[in-house]
Amino acid sequence: MLAQRKHPPATPTIHWSATWRWHISKDRTPHVFKCSPSLIRKQWLQEKPSPRPLPIPPFDYLPVDRMNRSQWNTFWSLKIPHNVRSVWWRLLLDRLPTRSHLHRILPDRCPLPLCPICLAAEEDAVHMMISCPNKKEVWKAGQAMLGTKILDPHLVWQALTFQSVPRSHKKQQEWLPTLVRYGRILQVIWSCHWNVVFEDISWSHATAMQRLQHGETARKTMGDEGRREVPESE
Ligand SMILES: [Zn+2]
Repeated sequence: MLAQRKHPPATPTIHWSATWRWHISKDRTPHVFKCSPSLIRKQWLQEKPSPRPLPIPPFDYLPVDRMNRSQWNTFWSLKIPHNVRSVWWRLLLDRLPTRSHLHRILPDRCPLPLCPICLAAEEDAVHMMISCPNKKEVWKAGQAMLGTKILDPHLVWQALTFQSVPRSHKKQQEWLPTLVRYGRILQVIWSCHWNVVFEDISWSHATAMQRLQHGETARKTMGDEGRREVPESE
């Protein structure tokens, strides 16, 4: 005799609903389930990626929009000549007269956005100040001459735009000597740049280094070397 087969008990079928609804209890008090804002944001971002791409360094937010009061105070207190502070200030405001900018606003007078020094790349602010091959060499040799650690051009740019400079006044003190020396190199690059543009001459690395050396000699003769500078911690 065959034993009667026992069927497993039928499991109740659960019907999931995609809609939200309030669960009202008998005493009419709604049960609200906890969900933190960060969890909602995380879920939202997974399903809806940002329509705007993240900024790529060093083309981050403009320094003027990012720098805090302490960083501005440090900038204004740097012991650098007025003319280079003016140039640096325009760099922080993204108001440099680059060929790229001039070509955009005055295409008749500036038909090409090319760098007038190397004629090989578009001249934006980074190229104008740092990454033009000729200027890159001056930055490298200039940092060696002034006794500053030789950094990659993009790291120099991040310091010039205060991206890598600490936001606290106390920690900024270590950066003062480096920033002042960057200002001296910036001054030489700026003056040599406009000599090439206005006098229609070729870029001379030797001339740039002579100007930097001359400035250092004059500064030491005047005896104000490092009067407001703090020795480097390195
Ligand atoms: Zn160039």
